[in-house]
Parts: sequence; structure tokens; C-alpha cells
Amino acid sequence: MRKGLVAANWKMNGLSQGNDALLGAILSGLKDPSGLEGGQAEVLICPPAVYLQQVRDKLEGSRIRLGGQNVHSAISGAFTGEISAGMLSDTGCSHVIIGHSERREIFGESDQFIAEKFSAAQAANLIPVLCVGETQAQREAGSTAETVLGQLNMVLGHVGIEAFEQAVVAYEPVWAIGTGLTASPEQAQEVHALIRKTISELDEGVAEQIRIIYGGSVKGTNAATLFAQPDIDGALVGGASLVAEEFIRICASFE
Ligand code: PEP
Repeated sequence: MRKGLVAANWKMNGLSQGNDALLGAILSGLKDPSGLEGGQAEVLICPPAVYLQQVRDKLEGSRIRLGGQNVHSAISGAFTGEISAGMLSDTGCSHVIIGHSERREIFGESDQFIAEKFSAAQAANLIPVLCVGETQAQREAGSTAETVLGQLNMVLGHVGIEAFEQAVVAYEPVWAIGTGLTASPEQAQEVHALIRKTISELDEGVAEQIRIIYGGSVKGTNAATLFAQPDIDGALVGGASLVAEEFIRICASFE
């Protein structure tokens, strides 16, 4: 049985005072018997890099884990403004988001670069949360499977199936991110099942245990029906992770 994972992607939001209040509310909300103490889902928070230490200190003693939103593929060097996997690890991160559609689209990150980041993360003992997903145009053109599997296979080809033993895949249809549009549970399940089948053709054991989480306008009101699908093991949550009651409700949607 796979343990659920609910990951918060704060993106470029929040200032220290608001972060403190948000984390305080999340921590007390998840202590409620209907929340985290039920032990059903692992919870991860990925704040902006400058607030990693603040969040780490605030989360100390809780079971909530800390993650980066981005990482560079190099170990160190002349990469002004970038952060290495070793630095994330040293700051207390257990995970890092890789290949988010905003990084792919706005910052032009290639599949090759994303694959290299995946390797760098694992070399520093971080668990990569690899995002894959199609745009609206790709879905309408009937190329959802080709797009998603193309992104997945690029990384698989680079790191090998063994590397997926310690990884999370996030299916995030680009048209559902921050738009209020959510893939229906059936649409999401179809792609999640395809991702698992592709992995299972390489290694059944890895396919059985890997967590494939869904992202795209997940809220307190739609989380439970998404999590009820057999291949949806959790969520990557953007906007709703900035609202304590919403995020708590999503975490509590694991039965
Ligand atoms: C995301 O940024 O990964 C995301 C899923 O955002 P939202 O929940 O706001 O759609």
C-alpha cells in the first residue's frame, strides 16, 4: 500500500510574517484527529528558497517535510542566482520539485536539463518530484500520452529505472495549473495509470511502490474524489496550499 503524499508548492509567494502565521495554522490544523495525526498522508512544504530555513525551524519536531522548488544540475560553480542540490540537502530538504511547467515554459528548461537535475538531486540524497504534463493545445490535439510519456522517458533514459525507486512523479496538466480547471478524476486516473504502466514495463516493483501525485487546481472540495482513484497517490498543491484551511482539508482527504 502506497502512503499518500500532499506537497505544497508555495511558488513565489509569502513573506516571513505571513509564512509564520500560515505554518502555525497548518501545524495546529494537522494535529486535529481528522488531519495529519491520522497518519494517512505524508506532507511536504516547498517554500521559496530564501525561506527554507525559516520553514525548517518552524516545522522542527513535526512530521512535515521540507522541499525545494528548483535546483541546478551542477554541484557548484559560476551559476549566479542558482542553488545546488547539496545546498538544499544541507538546509534540511528531503525533496525537490523538478520540471515544473512554469520552469519548462517561462525559463525554457529542456527535458535534458531536467534529467540532469534529477540526477543531481539524487546524488545529494534528495527525492525528486518530477513534474510532467500536457498543455491545452496538446490535449486537444490528442497528444497527451505522447507528451507525458516523452517527458517521462527522457528522464528514464538518462537515469534508468532504478533511480525511480526513490522518486515521485507529479502529473500536472498545464491547462489545470492555477486556472481553476481541474482534470476530472477519470481524466487524471487515465494518465496516472499510463505512467504506472510505462514504469511497470521496466520494473513492476518500482511501478507498484512509486507515488504518482496529481497537480492542477486541487482544493479541499475536489481532493477526496481525486484521491479515491487507484493510481492517484496524492497531490502537488499550488494556490490552495497558501490557505491553511484548504491545505488542511486536502491533507485530511486521505482516508
Ligand atoms: C502547481 O503549481 O504545481 C499547481 C498545481 O498549482 P495550482 O494548485 O494552483 O493549480
